[in-house]
Amino acid sequence: MPNLRFLRGYNDAVVLGLTRSGAVTRVELAERSGLTPQAVSKIVNRMIADGLLVESGTRNVGVGKPRTLLRLVADRGLALGAQVERDELRVVLADLAGDVVDRAVAPLPRGFDPPTFVEALAELVDRMRAPVPADRLLGVGIGFVGPLDHRTGVVHDATGLIGWHDVPLRALAERRLGLPVVVDKDTNTAVVAESWRRGEQLRDAVLVLVGTGLGVGLLLDGQVYRGARTNAGEFGHTTIQLDGPPCVCGRTGCVEAVHNLAAARGDLAGATAVVGLAVADLVQLLDVDHVVLAGRAVLSEPEAYTAAVRARMPVDDWLPVDVGITPLGDDVVAAGAAMLVLSEFYGRPR
Ligand SMILES: [Zn+2]
Repeated sequence: MPNLRFLRGYNDAVVLGLTRSGAVTRVELAERSGLTPQAVSKIVNRMIADGLLVESGTRNVGVGKPRTLLRLVADRGLALGAQVERDELRVVLADLAGDVVDRAVAPLPRGFDPPTFVEALAELVDRMRAPVPADRLLGVGIGFVGPLDHRTGVVHDATGLIGWHDVPLRALAERRLGLPVVVDKDTNTAVVAESWRRGEQLRDAVLVLVGTGLGVGLLLDGQVYRGARTNAGEFGHTTIQLDGPPCVCGRTGCVEAVHNLAAARGDLAGATAVVGLAVADLVQLLDVDHVVLAGRAVLSEPEAYTAAVRARMPVDDWLPVDVGITPLGDDVVAAGAAMLVLSEFYGRPR
């Protein structure tokens, strides 16, 4: 059995990546990858032998004989992805096509410390990997509350959590789970999921995640933008009201604090207006043409949040902004965390 954790080089990853979104012919693979037909043929034959691709059906191309279609064997490799909220842990299992095939949710105790979290994660991960052959599991992605460093997997001072100062979460989780682990901010994994799902259609987007906290994931010029220290997108802690309420970050009048206060009072119009105003500022700043809304608060009142954001978008007809709710629903952060693991498998940078 080949070791699925390592494809044989970059070309393999490119070819396999092209089979993600549907059946393709060898000719199409050569055209889209820029590789020679001979090189593609060699790679494809090896992948068929390894069980990653199957021949399935044909496509008529007018002249000449019909071409054989190749399909990805999506369950030949699987990745786990976790979303960590301040009160809840969600873990999903995604296949090589990025489709979520299983999920589980467990409560987290308020103010959980690192050892408590790692045990809770191991419990859900062990439950979900039990039926999966060990050589098919590629790793675990964790979408966590920032600030953190996605390169080292160290959580700096997760806002609203205690005992999380410079915690090497990736190392702790790898040791406990015995699997490769990647860690990123929840807002980043969420925008990874949207980018993966929509491909080239989505190049400039903000994903607004409104859960127990409020943050944004940024996709700029086709790349997830994390900033110099994985601290981009801490948008919930920009000031929207000079004399506003205190925030968990220690300041006052933050977008997150003003929104959460309105939501806690049952003032839906006020809460959604804060998000609408704040997102309008982001659109002006970045000139993105897509706004994707996600997170528990948004999913509980999707029409109200969507309408409030749409109402505050630029009115110029040459500046259209598509505003919508993530179709991945509650899974978006965890699914994106799994897709980070898959992206590495396909040889794309994190
Ligand atoms: Zn704040």
